[in-house]
Amino acid sequence: MTVNLLDFGAGSLADFCVEIGEKPFRARQLLRWIHQSGVSDVTSMSDLAKALREKLAATSVIEPPRVISDHTASDQTRKWLLSVGAGNGIEMVFIPEANRGTLCISSQVGCALECSFCSTGKQGFNRNLTVAEIVGQLWLANNAVRESSCSLEAQTVLDGNEVTQSSTRSRAISNVVFMGMGEPLANFENVVAALDLMLDDNAYGLSRRRVTVSTSGLIPAMDRLRERCPVALAVSLHAPNDALRDQLVPINKKYPIKQLLAACQRYLKSAPRDFITFEYVMLDGINDSIVHARELVELVRETSCKFNLIPFNSFSGSGYRRSSSESIRCFRDVLMQAGLVATVRKTRGDDIAAACGQLAGKVLDKTNRKK
Ligand code: SAH
Ligand code: SF4
Repeated sequence: MTVNLLDFGAGSLADFCVEIGEKPFRARQLLRWIHQSGVSDVTSMSDLAKALREKLAATSVIEPPRVISDHTASDQTRKWLLSVGAGNGIEMVFIPEANRGTLCISSQVGCALECSFCSTGKQGFNRNLTVAEIVGQLWLANNAVRESSCSLEAQTVLDGNEVTQSSTRSRAISNVVFMGMGEPLANFENVVAALDLMLDDNAYGLSRRRVTVSTSGLIPAMDRLRERCPVALAVSLHAPNDALRDQLVPINKKYPIKQLLAACQRYLKSAPRDFITFEYVMLDGINDSIVHARELVELVRETSCKFNLIPFNSFSGSGYRRSSSESIRCFRDVLMQAGLVATVRKTRGDDIAAACGQLAGKVLDKTNRKK
C-alpha cells in the first residue's frame, strides 16, 4: 500500500523508516526534504542513498490537495480552492502584510456546528480533513509563496525599478490561523498532529505564539489542547449572554458562556500568550449595541483577553447585515474605555470573497441539512 508522507509527524515517520528497514533518525532528514525543501518527488532527495530513494518511491508519495483555482486580490490577498476528492473542495487564504504573512487554513470539509451567520456552517458537513490535507495546505502555500517571491525578485532585477508595494510585504508564511472552513477542535487528533509538524524545527519551525486555533468553544477539547499542544487560542464569542449566543452559536447550549470563560482561564495557565483572543462578529441590530458592549465588559472582567471585532461578511441568503462603521466604532470605544484591547479586523480580499466566513469551498453535505 502506498502511504502519503505528508500524513506523518516526526514519530510516525521514524516508525515508517523502521518498517522499511531504515534507521529511525532518517526521519529527520526526510522531514526536512518534505517540509522545508517542499519536494514532491522522493527521488530528488539527493543526500539519501539511492536504495532508500528507491524504497521510498515504491512505498510512498508526497501528495497535498490538488489546486483547482488560485486567485490574487488587488490587496495581494491570495485564495486557493483545493480539491480533497469526491467532489469536495476546501479554501485557504494567504494574507501578506508588512511584518508577517498569515495563512488561513481549513480543518474540515464544511462544519457541523451551524452557527447562524457562517457560510461554512450553512453548507453542512462532509468529513474531517486528514493530517496530509491540513499540513498539505501549508506545504502548498509555502511552495507557491516561495515561487512567487522568486519571480518577483527576478522581475525587480529585470525592471531595475524601485521595490514595488507588493514586494515590500512579507513573502514568507510566519503565521498560521485555523480560521478557514471547519471547527478545528472537532477534528482534534488530526489538527494536533498537523500542529506538531508546524512547530517542529525540522519541518516548519513556526512559533507557538504564531499558530492560532480558533474555536467556537468546544470546552473538553480546549482542555485537551492545553495539555497536548498549547498554541495561541481564539474563541468565537459573538455575544455577551447565553440567550443571544444560543441563537448565533448553537453549541453554546451545550457549553455555555460561564463554563467557556472558565475553560479560557484554565487555558491561559499553559498558553504561549498571556491573553485569549475573543472574536466577535458585528451583526447589525443583533449584537452590536452599546448595551451589548457594556455587558461584554462585565462578562470578561476576570479574563485576560483581546477583542477582535469582525465586520460581518455577507453571503447570499445569510439574513444578516454588517454593522455600520459608526456602530462598530462606538462598540469598540466602550471596550477600550473599559481598558480592553479591541481591534477591528480589516476585510481582506474583498474582490475574491476571501474574508472570514466567506470561504465556501464545495461541501457534499452528509448531514442532510436544508440549504
Ligand atoms: N470554527 C472556528 C474557526 C473557523 S471560523 C470558529 O468558529 O471559531 C473563523 C472565524 O470567522 C470565527 O470567529 C467565525 O465565527 C467567523 N465567521 C464565520 N462566519 C463569518 C461571517 N460571515 N462574517 C464574519 N466572520 C465570520
Ligand atoms: Fe463552524 Fe466556525 Fe462556521 Fe460556527 S463559525 S459554523 S464553528 S466554521
